[in-house]
Amino acid sequence: MANETEKKDKEKGKKHVCSICARPSDTAICHACEDKIRGEALEHKHDVDKAGRTDSGRR
Ligand SMILES: [Zn+2]
Repeated sequence: MANETEKKDKEKGKKHVCSICARPSDTAICHACEDKIRGEALEHKHDVDKAGRTDSGRR
């Protein structure tokens, strides 16, 4: 039915999609990608921390 399609379309437009993998998600970034990003950020932070340790030291 046409009505059903319209409703589906509306719902589809209302729903967010992950800005990373473009999959339907309740949030801007789905949990899988969030996890991935968090892991990468942690890795990066760890890297920076490691590199800066010798040079900045304690405050
Ligand atoms: Zn995603």
